[in-house]
Amino acid sequence: MSYIENKVVAITGASSGIGEATARLLAENGAQIVLGARRTDRLEKLAAEITGAGGKAVFTKLDVTNAASVQDFIDFAISSFGKLDVLYSNAGVMPLSMMTSRKVDEWNRMIDVNIRGVLNGIAAALPVFEQQGFGHFINTASIGAHVVVPTGAVYCATKYAVWAISEGLRQESETTRVTTICPGVVETELGHDITEETSKGALNAFRKIALSPDAIARGVCYAIDQPDDVDVNEVIIRPTRSAF
Ligand code: NDP
Repeated sequence: MSYIENKVVAITGASSGIGEATARLLAENGAQIVLGARRTDRLEKLAAEITGAGGKAVFTKLDVTNAASVQDFIDFAISSFGKLDVLYSNAGVMPLSMMTSRKVDEWNRMIDVNIRGVLNGIAAALPVFEQQGFGHFINTASIGAHVVVPTGAVYCATKYAVWAISEGLRQESETTRVTTICPGVVETELGHDITEETSKGALNAFRKIALSPDAIARGVCYAIDQPDDVDVNEVIIRPTRSAF
């Protein structure tokens, strides 16, 4: 028996990487997918692929830093499929840099997307989950929610925050499930916006052992594919060869 089939799963950051791979895998397993991100050309292509293969997917433009946009995303999910089972808050940015570079705008962007984006999702979906009497928040933190590395101070801080918010939410919730996903290094577009050359080089070296986004998608599927009384609280997925 599948607990994924017919679930309505809204995914932020579905236009590439982990979000895109998860959308595909969940759709293959019978979930109804609501895709959100800013690059709607990519979402349109992905939704067409999924529906062309016999799955169900709709898409809409989403900026997770904007609370009204996130509310519209949740409303769109419910008007499309009649309910919301899972909000997968996955959108994130990672412009790594040394603190001495004082890239304050990039720090703020990470705080806005990685932390405020998740909070906007909780604010919009929690009333829906409480009213339904069921629901599931899945938030992408990172292995950076457990270890801090040079150039990653602010990025890791945002992911520690995602971890803490998710854990607090879990403790307060009796009917809503909460899962934190902590990937190690994965081959995606993350970090394309790094402006500091030394940080770019360090990430490229780290990426040599990167996992495919499918590895994380399988972890998300595992968390969703459980009966209502089972809450998979945290999934850490690293490359076997990774020390941290
Ligand atoms: P990608 O860069 O491929 O995907 C990031 C996604 O976030 C894109 O779909 C992007 O869409 C979306 N996004 C960024 N800003 C916004 C915004 N303001 N509003 C809505 N969507 C936004 O990277 P990943 O797939 O790797 O990243 C997914 C998550 O995984 C992130 O939270 C990241 O921190 C986390 N992670 C990734 C790891 C890795 O090694 N790749 C390791 C650990 C954690 P668009 O630009 O179209 O809006």
